[in-house]
Formats: sequence, structure tokens, C-alpha cells
Amino acid sequence: MEPIALADRFGRVATDLRVSLTDRCNLRCSYCMPAEGLDWLPGQEILTDDEVVRLVGIGIRLLGIREVRFTGGEPLIRRGLVDIVQRTRAIDPAVELSVTTNALGLQRMAGTLADAGLDRVNVSLDTIRRDTFHTITRRDRLDDVLAGLAAARDAGLTPVKINAVLLRGVNDEQAPELLEWAIGHGYALRFIEQMPLDAQHDWSRAEMVTAEEIFDRLATRFTLTPASEPRGSAPAELFTVDGGPATVGVIASVTRPFCGDCDRVRLTADGQVRNCLFAREESDLRTAMRAGADDEDLARRWVVAMLGKRAGHGIDDPTFLQPDRPMSAIGG
Ligand code: SAM
Ligand code: SF4
Repeated sequence: MEPIALADRFGRVATDLRVSLTDRCNLRCSYCMPAEGLDWLPGQEILTDDEVVRLVGIGIRLLGIREVRFTGGEPLIRRGLVDIVQRTRAIDPAVELSVTTNALGLQRMAGTLADAGLDRVNVSLDTIRRDTFHTITRRDRLDDVLAGLAAARDAGLTPVKINAVLLRGVNDEQAPELLEWAIGHGYALRFIEQMPLDAQHDWSRAEMVTAEEIFDRLATRFTLTPASEPRGSAPAELFTVDGGPATVGVIASVTRPFCGDCDRVRLTADGQVRNCLFAREESDLRTAMRAGADDEDLARRWVVAMLGKRAGHGIDDPTFLQPDRPMSAIGG
């Protein structure tokens, strides 16, 4: 079979695959999950390592995927992670491989992941204050995250990017100190607007800290200049900080959506293709695969799944409905 592009009806082509390896997590970020956790997916529904590698391989060999990001839940708690990275790397040495992680355990795993062929990591960190970290994540694990970040940098998993979500009255006023700290340590910080993807359905448009507010807060301490490089399909708007070379990104998923340039597609830990974070339908590749579908059949199902991709997430539409699954189950 000749490779087919994962194109949708609006002319967008997906080349960036986000793969959720588990819906479980060892933190409980308040904008993501409730304190008691969630009803985790039953073990038999989770793709095995072989099934993950097979589907990722179909994406790379038959469907034009050029970038694979492992996420979750927390991907570092997936026992087969290193093996999955290594086997994905063996499929294609040129595909960009990264992991989005809360960095718990990364201190121990960074070197092994780099040796397995991982290119880089995105670490989620919303504050560098221990008490605020505990308030947001409901765990006292800031030191582990900081050690994980340093280990990633030392292992060459660079550029080490940090994703931060700001919550009004919790950490929004800490944005400048987080940026100063990130620059000092050589990490590339990006702020992300909070999205309606929490399991508790507590998100509110009025409470969300907007990209404009984030920019204004940073501008109290830094001079931010729009970076000259074009944004392309990258969701972050990049600004040069105090003349550079350091930059900061702002991902305005809600107030300045970038759906028109989206090049992403998602595979959940239980083997469902989602053409958008906010999709209301999924395509079940797991059942087809376990019923004996061959690679070409699975590839065709994947192609069809893209045709239902909507033009935009529609968060601002009065008819907007939050997806049935939270971010932690879809794969952020
Ligand atoms: N556990 C890993 C981590 O935290 O990096 C990977 C999964 S997590 C769902 C992926 C990213 O989604 C994190 O950067 C997290 O901050 C972000 N996230 C979770 N819930 C969010 C929400 N409601 N709005 C915006 N970002 C969110
Ligand atoms: Fe876990 Fe990541 Fe969700 Fe935080 S954002 S609870 S680290 S999955």
C-alpha cells in the first residue's frame, strides 16, 4: 500500500500523533482530575505494548506520521515505556519522538529514555513554590519534578520544554517568577490557557486566565517581542524575552484557537483514534485489530476517522459540549 495522508475535509493533514499510554496518574492536578482520581480503564481494554507499537508503526509507515508524542495520564508509569520508545525509534530513525510528563521518576529514567531514542520531553510544571505545587497537584513532589527536569537536560532530551497552566488566585501572579526561573535553568516555558477538559467539569470561561492576561502579567517584568519565526502549525505564539535569546510561548487554545492549522491526531490508551481533543466521536481500532484486521484495513479505518474532523473546537459556541472523556483519558 502506498502511504496515504491523514487528510480531513478542510485540507488539513495530520502528521503529529499523540499517543496516550495510560489514563492513570500519580498527581491530581486540580484542573485535570478530582482528588480521589477517576475510574481507570480496565486492564484488558488498554493496548498492549505490541499493539501500541503496531498502531504507531501503521501511522508512520502508511499514514505519513512524522512526529510521535507519548502522553497520558502519566506516561512514565507505563511499564513498557522504554521498550515502546525503542521499538518506535527502530521503525523510523527520522521521526521526532517526545514524551509529555509530570517528570515524577524522570530523574531515574531520563538517560535510559535518551538511549532508547527519545528526542525530548515536555514537562508540566505550574509553579516553583512548594506550597502552591501541593495546592495544585495535591502532592508534595516539587523536588522530584525539579530533579527530573535537570536529569532530562543532562541526558540531552533538549530543548526541555515546560508547560504551565495558570489558575486565577492560585499561581497566576507567579507567572513572571516562573519565567525567570525557567530562563535561568535553560528550559523553554510555554503557558497554556486552561481548557474545558477537566473530569469534574469545573472549568469556567470567566475564571480562566486568558493569554492576554498572561502576556500583561509577564510584561510587568519583561520586554516581550513577537518572535520572527512563523508559527506554522505550532500552537504556541512565541515571544523573545528582553531581546533574546530566551523565548516564552503562550498557547491561547481558547481565546485564539489554532484549529485551522492543526496537524494532530490522537490515539487513546484503549486504542481509539480521536481526530481532535474535543472530538465527540472516536474510531475503535482496538476492536478491529483484535478481530484480526490487517495493517491496511486499520490504516483505512484511520483515514476514514479523519474525515469527521470538525473545523474548530467551538468552545465559544453556545452549543459547545465538553467531550465525554477528560484530558487525562484522551491524552494531553
Ligand atoms: N501527566 C502528563 C503531564 O502532566 O504532563 C501528561 C498528560 S497531561 C493531561 C498533558 C498536559 O495537559 C499537561 O501539560 C497539563 O498541564 C495539561 N492539562 C491538563 N488538563 C488541562 C486543562 N484542563 N487545560 C489545559 N491544559 C491541561
Ligand atoms: Fe496527572 Fe498530567 Fe493530569 Fe496533572 S495534568 S493530573 S500530571 S495527567
